[in-house]
Amino acid sequence: MPNIAPDHLENLVQQTLIAAGSHPEEAAIVADHLVRANLAGHDSHGVGMLTNYLPGLQSGVLKANQPHEIYMDAGPLLGIDGGRGFGQRIAKESMDLGIARAREHGLALIGTRRCHHIGRIGTYAEQCSAAGLISLHFVNVQDHRPLVAAFRGKEAVFGTNPICFGMPSQGDAPDILLDMATSQIALGKTRVAFLGGKPVPQGAVIDHQGQLSDQPSVMWQEPFGALTPLADHKGYGLALMCEILGGVMTGGGSIAPHHERLGGIVNNMLSILIDPKRLVTADYLAQELSELVNFVTHSAPAGSLPVILPGEPERQTHQARTPGIPFDDGNWDSLVQAAATLGVDWNA
Ligand code: NAD
Repeated sequence: MPNIAPDHLENLVQQTLIAAGSHPEEAAIVADHLVRANLAGHDSHGVGMLTNYLPGLQSGVLKANQPHEIYMDAGPLLGIDGGRGFGQRIAKESMDLGIARAREHGLALIGTRRCHHIGRIGTYAEQCSAAGLISLHFVNVQDHRPLVAAFRGKEAVFGTNPICFGMPSQGDAPDILLDMATSQIALGKTRVAFLGGKPVPQGAVIDHQGQLSDQPSVMWQEPFGALTPLADHKGYGLALMCEILGGVMTGGGSIAPHHERLGGIVNNMLSILIDPKRLVTADYLAQELSELVNFVTHSAPAGSLPVILPGEPERQTHQARTPGIPFDDGNWDSLVQAAATLGVDWNA
């Protein structure tokens, strides 16, 4: 099983994106995002996405070097249109602009719409946290066939519509990051499991007849099944709100079938950025958060594992993978083959 140093992997991704048409700055932002997703343990949103992006660039559902356009600009409100450009780049630029607005006004509401896949949403919360800002993000997915069934439905009607909340570190409390799909598992996890020949948790998917299953193939081989929503009616409700906030309220649109579906992955995201120090004093915040986090994480464990904070698994995996990111042969070979079509040799 290949184990690849993060810097080397980032360099390979960058070279591949440049060969596919991106200018070096764009390739660097996308490569950094993808490798950081692998470092965080989210291989589903890591460099494996190249096997989707490279055909997307060829078919035109994803556009290299697409500059963002501002579609709304009113004090703390800002809207950025991505024009199907690389989402990792457009959403990073959008957050850079949003951070400046939140510093000025104490609060910012940022629409980021019509981007090709923006990847791991936690990256944007981390960007805001690094600037000392709280952030909330609501995301929908278009252009792709629906993947997630509604509660009580057997037919897919949503994308995996992630929500994400970031709280920057204060006092003894580290950064807290809740970043999750509103389906039980993200689609990418079924891709990694499918290519790796492994099952997914039972009930994370249903087959085309609506029967609970643990087979990732139901998402990749026809007749297609669907992912199930997180926590039944609750995840279904959150997915619907992501359609409304992320899709409708950015003007990017919902997943409803009157919108074109060209087979790419288009994300719309509504983000709220808050400067916590406009609401309470720094001393109060540090003390309250330290006490809260201590109380929660020192609660008695029910089993052998301790109570940890959202964001901790990613921090631990980042540390463990800093010497090298592991790939199974199936996932690695598909990347080597994809890069080879552009004349970039990942095994050199
Ligand atoms: P996940 O289930 O692995 O983790 C969800 C959250 O739970 C994370 O914040 C994690 O830190 C936290 N967590 C995990 N174990 C914990 C524990 N024991 N105690 C406390 N907290 C814990 O994530 P997921 O739902 O599979 O999503 C994976 C990634 O996919 C996310 O980064 C998400 O942004 C991304 N995603 C993107 C899109 C898109 O369209 N761009 C769509 C769906 C998902």
